[in-house]
Amino acid sequence: MSIQTVNPNTNKTVKSFEEMTEKAVDAKVAKAQGAFVKWKETSYQQRADLLHKVATLMRAKKTALAKTITLEMGKLLAQAEGEIDLSANILDYYADNGEAFLADKVLDPEYGTAIIRNSPIGALLGVMPWNFPFYQVVRFAAPNIMVGNTILLKHASNVPQCATAIEELFEEAEAPKGLYTNLFISGRRASALVSDKRIKGVSLTGSEEAGASVAMEAGKHLKKVVLELGGNDAFIILEDADVAKTVEWAVVGRMNNNGQSCIASKRFIAVEAIADEFIQKFKDALSKLKLGDPMDPATQLGPLSSEGAAEHLADQVNRSVEGGAKVLLGGKRADREGAFMEPTILTDLNPGIAAYHEELFGPVASFYVVKDEQAAIDLANDSDFGLGGSIFTQDIERGKRIADQIDSGMLFINHPTWTQADFPFGGTKRSGFGRELSELGIHEFVNKKLIRVS
Ligand code: NAP
Repeated sequence: MSIQTVNPNTNKTVKSFEEMTEKAVDAKVAKAQGAFVKWKETSYQQRADLLHKVATLMRAKKTALAKTITLEMGKLLAQAEGEIDLSANILDYYADNGEAFLADKVLDPEYGTAIIRNSPIGALLGVMPWNFPFYQVVRFAAPNIMVGNTILLKHASNVPQCATAIEELFEEAEAPKGLYTNLFISGRRASALVSDKRIKGVSLTGSEEAGASVAMEAGKHLKKVVLELGGNDAFIILEDADVAKTVEWAVVGRMNNNGQSCIASKRFIAVEAIADEFIQKFKDALSKLKLGDPMDPATQLGPLSSEGAAEHLADQVNRSVEGGAKVLLGGKRADREGAFMEPTILTDLNPGIAAYHEELFGPVASFYVVKDEQAAIDLANDSDFGLGGSIFTQDIERGKRIADQIDSGMLFINHPTWTQADFPFGGTKRSGFGRELSELGIHEFVNKKLIRVS
């Protein structure tokens, strides 16, 4: 297993890092446990001051941090800058609101008094993916630091410089040693670490396989786990949708982050009355996207995060075509160096075909035509995943009624699924369990302690 920066625009290795020894990891876990004993005694104000400081540093270094993201995983530079802004906003959001979210809840017993107090639980392990290398970390770390917990972070092996940069931001903000610690270890070792008595909970964002592995260890050792896994979000287009706006959002929904978002719009489901008009315009828009170097501001579609990711996606498309799918646009690796895939649209998808069931993590849209609203709902629900989803209609009440019938954690009307600090984020079914962000996200790793006075 290798921890490396490999530029996906060229597939050239830029820098390699050593995996940490067992002894080094043991010392870091001990430090995180020691830091917890002191950090839990700090005031909310002290914790908020630290988070604000990290946010300020992040904004000050925005361009350099964004370039590191783009170098390591190929996100368009402007989107990488957007990720840094979003991450800083999340830090500020928990600094500003954490104390109120965690305030004692006063109960009203028949006699005496009773409160529920939110207490920290200890050192936590985070296992995070490369696709939003700052945002994923911050949405786990910020609320938990506000709670009084401490953080050990195993980041994806292809974003080591992002992982180091986050740890350095905490150091520069003068966080106590052990409050936030980067671990250069493999996924297998991260799973094994869950059994360590000093670690009190684990949060993983990533694939179903990694989630199941961590959850199995957490179950065996009776620890709390939060899982944010894959998605296969439906994007429903009803006959009364505004086609021009819908197509604009469809492009953003599918192609943001070069198509590698868990909440990307992946299954485009149009009712017959509007299907032809939508798909012609959607195809036209995707075919015009300018592929290129993600550092170049003129580029509209960059590479996938790695050669392996691009090969995996091309294989999913090939298997789908072998199973009977048709390629309306693209369908192949782009003819240039780097981990590129052409913008692609697949049609004629039926149960049994790879693209019908699997998450396509890249610039490949699945297009379905259905007879009416009910068929759109049924198809949206015919997935093992249940993360987000969107509905395009000018009848908002109709959109809300449909949202009620779709089994997923987040539904957006007239917008692709999106994220911001004050919106809860999470899924149902095989997309995982637990919530991050908003007030809900701060309550995942707390001891809700009853204090009763008789
Ligand atoms: P991945 O392979 O599961 O990697 C995610 C993290 O898990 C990495 O740090 C990885 O480390 C680690 N890992 C891998 N195998 C592990 C194991 N057996 N035990 C413990 N940790 C392990 O995920 P990916 O395929 O790179 O990322 C894309 C997936 O993440 C997609 O399915 C996407 O939908 C999902 N995702 C979900 C959300 C959400 O909020 N729901 C957000 C973003 C992405 P290494 O890099 O060292 O292997």
